[in-house]
Amino acid sequence: MKNKKQYAVIGLGRFGTSVAITLHKMGYEVLAIDSREERVQEFSDEVTHVVQADTTDEDTLSALGIRNFDVVVVAIGEDIQANILTTLQLKELGVPYIVTKAKNTLHGKMLEKMGADRVVYPERDMGQRVAHNLVSSNVMDYIELSPELGIVEVRVPKALVGKTLAETDLRAKFEINVVAIKREEVVIVPPLPSEKFTERDILVVVGGMKGIQRLEELA
Ligand code: ADP
Repeated sequence: MKNKKQYAVIGLGRFGTSVAITLHKMGYEVLAIDSREERVQEFSDEVTHVVQADTTDEDTLSALGIRNFDVVVVAIGEDIQANILTTLQLKELGVPYIVTKAKNTLHGKMLEKMGADRVVYPERDMGQRVAHNLVSSNVMDYIELSPELGIVEVRVPKALVGKTLAETDLRAKFEINVVAIKREEVVIVPPLPSEKFTERDILVVVGGMKGIQRLEELA
């Protein structure tokens, strides 16, 4: 445990809670902070340490020894002012790696300018996933690499079952690449051109938006 990274998560809303509990389950030491007493009490069994504190206050942050943490996640959502002030104080205190949740692109740009090392957009990312899943219930997950490029995890379209990867010619037709095939408990990576799709396969595909969309729309 000693040489493992130490994490602090500020703001125990839905996003912060999920980050903190996951890190704790992975065996990391996690300090969780929230200004609301009831959140702190509810959380006392879930992570290594929980404290009640208003992180917009520099002295409070400093007293918590926040600069000794390797990574601090700012998960304050609704209160943009508190989110920005906290990020700024963390930067000034010299925290090595700051991850901050942004509400929108403008907010995100501001955080980047202030020196946040990573800006995350959980609502936007989830919105994209849900939209792709609405277009096709075959879509299980979607990750945007750039506005034009993504990775999608999709159930094999019926039209492809029984054909080999080479026969489907997805690279030429849709300009997409199948990087892995999940088959029951096995992950075939990278799949050979001779690999034949079976009914329950799940494909992990990288490619442009248009190609991915065409794959999603295949019945
Ligand atoms: P989510 O959308 O992820 O649920 P919320 O904005 O609802 O996020 O929750 C953010 C959490 O951050 C709340 O529990 C709130 O009490 C906490 N919070 C807000 N301002 C501060 C602050 N200045 N210092 C510490 N925690 C704060």
